[in-house]
Amino acid sequence: MRQFDVAVVGGGAAGLSLTHRLAVVNRAGGSRPSIALVDAPPGPLRPPERTWCYWERGAGRWDPLLAASWDRLRVVGADAAERDSPTAPFRYKMLRSADFEARVRSETARRVTGYRARVEEIADGPQRAVVRAVDEDGEPVEIGARWVFDSRPRPRPPSRTALLQHFRGWFVRAPRAAFDPRAAVLMDLRTPQPARGVSFGYILPLSEREALVEYTEFTREAIGEAAYEAALRDYTGRLLGLADFEVVSAEQGAIPMTDARLPTRVGRRVFLIGAAGGATRPSTGYTFAGIQRQTAAVAAALARGRTPVPPVPHRRRHLAMDAVLLRALDTGRVDGAGFFTRLFARNRLTDVLEFLDGPSTLPRELVIGATTPLLPMSLTAAECALRTARRR
Ligand SMILES: Cc1cc2nc3c(=O)[nH]c(=O)nc-3n(C[C@H](O)[C@H](O)[C@H](O)COP(=O)(O)OP(=O)(O)OC[C@H]3O[C@@H](n4cnc5c(N)ncnc54)[C@H](O)[C@@H]3O)c2cc1C
Repeated sequence: MRQFDVAVVGGGAAGLSLTHRLAVVNRAGGSRPSIALVDAPPGPLRPPERTWCYWERGAGRWDPLLAASWDRLRVVGADAAERDSPTAPFRYKMLRSADFEARVRSETARRVTGYRARVEEIADGPQRAVVRAVDEDGEPVEIGARWVFDSRPRPRPPSRTALLQHFRGWFVRAPRAAFDPRAAVLMDLRTPQPARGVSFGYILPLSEREALVEYTEFTREAIGEAAYEAALRDYTGRLLGLADFEVVSAEQGAIPMTDARLPTRVGRRVFLIGAAGGATRPSTGYTFAGIQRQTAAVAAALARGRTPVPPVPHRRRHLAMDAVLLRALDTGRVDGAGFFTRLFARNRLTDVLEFLDGPSTLPRELVIGATTPLLPMSLTAAECALRTARRR
């Protein structure tokens, strides 16, 4: 059995980010762990290609790979009022998973041992863990490691509220100018609304003629492809007034939005990272930026010789506030489209972005909270607090 310092299981956003941190970025710090990266062979376990959007202050590590970025974001309320705001000091960025994977793999190729194998078991131990997998030829593979970081998707643990952010998007090409490439549309809340939760359109314009146009819902269950297609036709036709355009490709997905507690340590030597390790911000589904913080912390802990327990990359109070919002949406106590319309109408966009992923302060968050429907949100907060107290 080959032995490594670190075995990374799963080669998605989290596995590749950690591998890159350990093999390329933190190398200068003197620590040079030996690394195995085990990803599933092409097939059903491999997620389809996707685009990741996130925002950060100024320049970032992945800027050279970006497919596009914007310094203005637009929100269209349920009342059809349009708000176009600068994002500074942040920039909203779009990265294609294929570009990210190609770069990480080429930069780490000489320093990382890659395996294409389906991991079936990770056996914990006091000094080392063992990753047991089956390769493409059906042969068993065993890898020993001091530390194992597992990013395979896991069943959702029990939670009070379990919504899904589910969506389908079309990459469209129009014969003439149809989009404003200066601003992405973060939420267009004019779409027909579900009984509970919220739905909205989302537009990432790549040029005047090309864009990714998505239909998204925050509800309990995903809908079928035909229903997404109908919603996209309605959104692009009735609401955007796009008549003739070509659908170049489509992207579909579902991201759990839950108040479940996701442990990141599952053994003496085994940890969870990425979406499986709580990197998803429950109220938004954004995960990529959280993964960057989480994997940076793991690499820093390893470089210092500490036990590298991955932190959940969101503040506790933000998780508590998200739990209240998810519950309020799920119970139908707040009208989702009205909630988000008000949130963006009554607050500066940058304050909301900072709250959703940034260094926001409690006083600022209280001001934002005061712009939400106070009675249903307070009732829901009281319900969440009571349930938490009962659970203890
Ligand atoms: C379509 C889509 C679009 C998204 N867009 C955004 C966005 O714009 N911004 C954002 O912040 N977040 C976004 N997300 C959420 C989140 O960023 C992604 O889900 C992200 O890919 C999560 O990364 P991960 O590494 O945790 O999991 P994954 O990327 O799902 O990686 C899991 C890895 O585990 C591997 N694997 C699975 N089973 C096995 C096995 N048995 N053995 C070995 N390997 C295995 C898979 O091959 C895969 O490489 C999106 C999600 C989806 C589905």
